[in-house]
Amino acid sequence: MAYELRALVGRKANITLLSDSEWFHFVPSNPWVAVNWRKPEDIKVHLPKICKKLKIGFDATGAKHVLPGENAIELNDGRRLTYDYLVIATGPALAFDEIDGLGPERNTVSICHVDHAKETAEKWEHFCKNPGPIVIGAVQGASCFGPAYEFALIVNADLRKRKIRDRVPITFVTSEPYIGHLGLGGVGDTKGVLESAFRDRDIKWVTNAKLDRANAESVDVTEVGEDGQPKRQHSLPSKFTMFIQGFAESPA
Ligand SMILES: Cc1cc2nc3c(=O)[nH]c(=O)nc-3n(C[C@H](O)[C@H](O)[C@H](O)COP(=O)(O)OP(=O)(O)OC[C@H]3O[C@@H](n4cnc5c(N)ncnc54)[C@H](O)[C@@H]3O)c2cc1C
Repeated sequence: MAYELRALVGRKANITLLSDSEWFHFVPSNPWVAVNWRKPEDIKVHLPKICKKLKIGFDATGAKHVLPGENAIELNDGRRLTYDYLVIATGPALAFDEIDGLGPERNTVSICHVDHAKETAEKWEHFCKNPGPIVIGAVQGASCFGPAYEFALIVNADLRKRKIRDRVPITFVTSEPYIGHLGLGGVGDTKGVLESAFRDRDIKWVTNAKLDRANAESVDVTEVGEDGQPKRQHSLPSKFTMFIQGFAESPA
């Protein structure tokens, strides 16, 4: 947004980019980092140098509060920055705490932050030395389903490259009512396309699913019927589990 504004308004405005880190990381590339197809450095951008070149002010202190009545932002070190116009794009907080056992500090890996993806890459190498079943998916309350599909297909491709795919049953577990819904009622023919991609690659699925608990080597899932009532319980073995979690509001 800062780059676009600089291009739009030229030198007519003072633009400051306020971040909580000197490094921007490009979230959509995390799935590649998670299987070691890219290194974190490949998807990170050091902002101070670029901002200097574009004559955009830069501060990595981080925002603590927005004070709209005062047209000001309180920074993490207590300083205040005033503005005429404010664009907020902090991204979400990751709501791992909504489900038992979910998240990189518990029993599942994550691809939603580059640091998580880096940790996932280490766990992936470890897993590939002693493979077993995998569960990948998106929990109830998730709003971003695409990366779960992408990761299932990436994992499948990487296992094939390593010639160990036959040792790894993959199950896709999602809260979507059908494969390819994507939280959007489907996009074009995604129902057919993604079901077909999964069938071709021997990826099984459970839809309308609620993740009850992620354990160290399994996941407990309730499949819900069209009437919203529990229909079937699944306990799926999994030695490597990735679920897209819900997104919560930024703490700032
Ligand atoms: C694994 C994955 C794959 C995805 N793939 C795609 C894809 O292929 N195509 C697509 O269109 N979308 C994709 N998405 C969605 C896309 O990544 C997000 O929609 C997009 O990153 C949101 O951009 P943003 O600028 O709002 O937030 P972010 O990209 O999260 O950036 C937020 C920035 O705000 C900073 N920040 C946070 N808190 C503060 C604070 N308090 N003070 C100052 N700075 C702060 C952060 O450091 C960060 O730099 C994917 C998402 C995931 C999780």
